Amino acid sequence: MHEIQLHNTLSGKVEPFVPLKAGVVHMYTCGPTVYDFAHIGNFRTFVFQDILRRFLKLRGYKLTHVMNLTDVDDRIIANAAAAGVDIRDYTKKYVQAFFDDCRTLSVESPEHWIRATENIDSMVKLIQELQKKTYTYDSEGSIYYRIAKFKDYGKLSKIDLTGIQAGARVDNDRYEKESARDFALWKAPKPGEYFWETPIGPGRPGWHIECSAMAMKYLGETIDIHTGGIDLAFPHHENEIAQSEAATGKPFVKYWLHAEHLLVEGEKMSKSLGNFFTLRDLFAKGYKPSALRFALASVPYRRQLNFTFDGLQQATSSVERLRNFAARLKNEKFPAGKQKSMAERIAKAASDFDAGLSGDLNTAVALAAMFDFVREANIAMDKGEFRQGEVKEAQDFLAKFDSVFAVLEDNDAEKLKALGYDTGGDSADDAEIEKLVAARQTARQKRDFAESDRIRKALSDRGILLEDTKDGSVRWKRK
Ligand SMILES: [Zn+2]
Repeated sequence: MHEIQLHNTLSGKVEPFVPLKAGVVHMYTCGPTVYDFAHIGNFRTFVFQDILRRFLKLRGYKLTHVMNLTDVDDRIIANAAAAGVDIRDYTKKYVQAFFDDCRTLSVESPEHWIRATENIDSMVKLIQELQKKTYTYDSEGSIYYRIAKFKDYGKLSKIDLTGIQAGARVDNDRYEKESARDFALWKAPKPGEYFWETPIGPGRPGWHIECSAMAMKYLGETIDIHTGGIDLAFPHHENEIAQSEAATGKPFVKYWLHAEHLLVEGEKMSKSLGNFFTLRDLFAKGYKPSALRFALASVPYRRQLNFTFDGLQQATSSVERLRNFAARLKNEKFPAGKQKSMAERIAKAASDFDAGLSGDLNTAVALAAMFDFVREANIAMDKGEFRQGEVKEAQDFLAKFDSVFAVLEDNDAEKLKALGYDTGGDSADDAEIEKLVAARQTARQKRDFAESDRIRKALSDRGILLEDTKDGSVRWKRK
């Protein structure tokens, strides 16, 4: 096994990963603001942090991972008011949709899902601590953080603070990237707005205080890893550092990891360009969850990901190739015995795979290790050179691979069905297809190739692909 190295935005370098406590990792990920469906750009980050958590687990770490749901913010309050419903009712649908989307993409649940609206007390306490240490000032019922007092402000994003007005403040959660100004910790309610009655006055928390309060409540004052999209580094994560470190006097996070942006066909994704996609938009077009997960995972997280439909198509074939290989290992009968060369080949692939992920989670290297091996093993199988004694080791490697990439299980149709997409198959259908496949087998055994071809064509017209395996059995799947 290789030393795990991760790129730390704080130092700007790739560093050996050494958690604060041996064998244990405390990790925090900024979750979605649940005012709409999450899009594929959001899921690029969520798949990245999923690959990270799965890899750390594979390497034996005990993980405590917290992800928050921002279920109160300006947009939520405005949208809920416009819809005439309580914010809890408004966000319910999007919270559920997010959970469903994660499950569909095989994004594991963190150890703790936490909601901003259920942790208001901790946020109030943290603000009181900052008040005590004079990092705050009040204005018209709102409470602001005084950036000028925190000397390290800018250390994460390396933002240049010259030209920033001291004491300038903004109320809005939705920052312009360049505006480093005093930010609201607590916002006084405007007339008719939702608010909490608290010891620091009526109002609601700012976005930044949420993550500081919840991360420290569940993970302690200093945590190992904090992840998010690169657009969160400033001002959100910079503000999290300012709040947490001012309150505790301790470093807030040891390793900051940020995923790069996603482009669609080379352009920034935006609703106005018509290239804005949620997962559901892609499922409705017939793409599979496994292909989408593969496409999002295949580009190393610190590289910009250019999402294209060609790429998604290639991801579909890549997943198929892996599943076919797994099926060959499972179903074919190989000559008995074992060869040293193949055992060594498998060990090398497993080592290259580990080296890839250990090297700042380089998924492209890890995937290349797997696909090179699959290609060579398939050739060996075709030549009759793959032995039965090698099956288990190859399967163990596949299992290790899949504990991180999670694309081998052929459950796309099920997942889509659970989301309400009709994938054209049901069990009654399956029984009928099995019958036709069997009839074709009988025809082939009788060497009635005209009949066998006719059935193959009929199945093909129904979207069923047949694969004849070497041991004479037939597998079928939907196109
Ligand atoms: Zn956050």
